[in-house]
Amino acid sequence: MVKEELNPFEIAKQQIERVGKHLKLDPGLLEILKSPQRELSVNFPVRMDDGKIRVFNGYRVQFNGALGPYKGGIRYHPQVNLDEVRALSCWMTWKTSLMGLPYGGSKGGVICDPKKMSKAELERMTRRYTTAISTIIGPEQDIPAPDVYTDGQTMAWIMDTYSMNRGYSVPGVVTGKPLAIGGSKGRDEATSRGVVYTTREAAKKIKLNLKGATVAIMGYGNVGWFAAKIFHDEYGCKIVAVSDSKGGIYSEKGFDPKEVKDHKEKTGSVVGFPGTNKISNEALLELKVDVLVPAALENVITAENASRINAKIVAEGANGPTTPAADEIMHKKGIVDIPDILANGGGVTVSYFEWVQNLQHFFWTLDEVRQKLDQIITTAFNNVWEVREQEKVDMRMAAYIVAVKRVVEAYRLRGIFP
Ligand code: NAD
Repeated sequence: MVKEELNPFEIAKQQIERVGKHLKLDPGLLEILKSPQRELSVNFPVRMDDGKIRVFNGYRVQFNGALGPYKGGIRYHPQVNLDEVRALSCWMTWKTSLMGLPYGGSKGGVICDPKKMSKAELERMTRRYTTAISTIIGPEQDIPAPDVYTDGQTMAWIMDTYSMNRGYSVPGVVTGKPLAIGGSKGRDEATSRGVVYTTREAAKKIKLNLKGATVAIMGYGNVGWFAAKIFHDEYGCKIVAVSDSKGGIYSEKGFDPKEVKDHKEKTGSVVGFPGTNKISNEALLELKVDVLVPAALENVITAENASRINAKIVAEGANGPTTPAADEIMHKKGIVDIPDILANGGGVTVSYFEWVQNLQHFFWTLDEVRQKLDQIITTAFNNVWEVREQEKVDMRMAAYIVAVKRVVEAYRLRGIFP
């Protein structure tokens, strides 16, 4: 068997080539769509709590800005690397386009192990990284947001650092901020709400009743936890399995996601929650459930395990959880796989709302945010579904067709400078 490509940037380029072929795009244009426009690599010193100096490596990649300012999160993780950041910035480009937002795509990351750093070290590292990339970020230029192991506090430090250097407060430089300094209501739950809304639409299409439907979620961070809560509290789903980096838990009867969250806060993991059995992350993915939500890292559904995926709907909360070979296998099995750029597009959509509110200095209610999000993501879902039916392609291809076409149209209208 040919070894499957697992480099996320190679996968991202394959996905563009696939849609390029389908749309019969000009080879020059295809080359533009596969190339990151700007890549900044920074090495910067941070004084650690023991007084020693450590040099950290970080990146910011601005993939494509044809539709507007670049937009994309910042990840802190030991496995961050340039190709991963490139891939994530590429996927942001298609995601913002698919959601119909006036943004391009970007992403950033720092190679570090935040779990082994104190809060003070994280603050100093964040402020120095912000300074290192400050020439290319800004509310009109490139607007970061949280990603894996960064949160509202990280965004608050970035906003403050950027503002200190400008001499006035610039809340619109980042999104995902705490409410007290210009965050939007509903941002914390937004990605998960998008996951749930797109699952709701997919369930309607395949006539699956969500009330009582079984749900398994890999990853119990921001995206996984809120998805569990909304599925359970608002749609009456039965959450039967969740997991984190230490392993997973399973109960046929289901459990209350809030109690599991409290357990994780107390013990550091979902594992050991009373009344559940321990299962591995691998086994969780293969459970016979109605809805499976991968909400941790990339490449978890591959050619190796795709044939054993037993869910009716897979809603990709994480970015890049499925490889192209796995896509094909799941499509053949009749699984509705809601691709990442659609399923988790709720996060960037409410980030956009936050940015708009910051620029207007006028804030919306939680109901307004939820309603507008529902409208945008349901429209995006229906656009994708229509293309899927018309062109007889899988959901990811359909989503890419919609997203890439919009960027191509921007190039047609703007032209190639000079
Ligand atoms: P997070 O840091 O809050 O949570 C990550 C979770 O994944 C944690 O529970 C962690 O324990 C778990 N995890 C880490 N390694 C794992 C492993 N090997 N196996 C199983 N679980 C593991 O991050 P998040 O914000 O919830 O992001 C999760 C995914 O969603 C990422 O792919 C991210 O890019 C994507 N995403 C996030 C947002 C957002 O708004 N936060 C938006 C769009 C996409």
